[in-house]
Amino acid sequence: MSTREGATTFGRAKKALGQHFLHERAYIDRIVQAVDPRPGERLVEIGPGQGALTLPLLRRHGALTVIEFDRDLIAPLAAAAERVGELAIVHRDVLAVDLTALAADGRLLRLVGNLPYNISSPILFHALDHATAIRDMHFMLQKEVVDRMGAAPGSKVYGRLSVMLQARCEVIPLFDVPPGAFRPPPKVDSAVVRLLPRPSQAIGIDDPARFAAVVRAAFGQRRKTLRNALSGVCDAAAITAAGVDPTSRAEQLAVADFVRLANISRPQ
Ligand code: SAM
Repeated sequence: MSTREGATTFGRAKKALGQHFLHERAYIDRIVQAVDPRPGERLVEIGPGQGALTLPLLRRHGALTVIEFDRDLIAPLAAAAERVGELAIVHRDVLAVDLTALAADGRLLRLVGNLPYNISSPILFHALDHATAIRDMHFMLQKEVVDRMGAAPGSKVYGRLSVMLQARCEVIPLFDVPPGAFRPPPKVDSAVVRLLPRPSQAIGIDDPARFAAVVRAAFGQRRKTLRNALSGVCDAAAITAAGVDPTSRAEQLAVADFVRLANISRPQ
């Protein structure tokens, strides 16, 4: 389906829903190749829009579940998918969808999506709340967000998002996508990232809420030493006991350091 056809069939893009529709074939193909769905896998797309990824995925895989919030897109999507494959449409806000329930048949989910950028972080964390039901994720996001997600300690963009994401999954940036690949073009560059959830026992976080609180406190005052930034949650002796220098700053710590700090911190 060309975008020209899509534009007449589906109507105008809605800014409030972060609608920027992919139209460049080369990038669509690269995403489908990166996902590389295999027979029997459970593929779920978030925000199918006008079907730029949906129809190629459906053609290749035969079956797909999509979660779309915009009611105006539901009937055209169903019509476009007719005779292409088995398309199950969940017409809901993805943040209200129980992703674990979608994997009830025991097949882990492979999530795909050119995400609405205005709510990409809530969608990422919602997906991670269902990580045990997910095999992998391939998401298009703002490049700046992908850079932050995959940043290493010491990098200027290493921060709370890097630690929270990397603690829960392996972050593999794949390729960049320029604004001109979308209609209408977004104001920013985009990038596709692969996320592989880590098994929960591999992470070793005793209490996820405490971990989140420690990371928030540490980066909330990133110019301060950890001793000062974490004064409400762990004292200098506890920081040292966790193998971390209390005079260091959050941006110097590895994810494993945050896990140890959280595990010895005071319950909130
Ligand atoms: N996948 C299409 C493409 O690549 O052309 C559309 C991508 S567009 C950036 C984001 C899509 O997410 C839109 O179709 C939009 O309606 C949908 N969307 C926005 N907020 C949503 C939400 N809370 N739940 C589900 N879908 C949402």
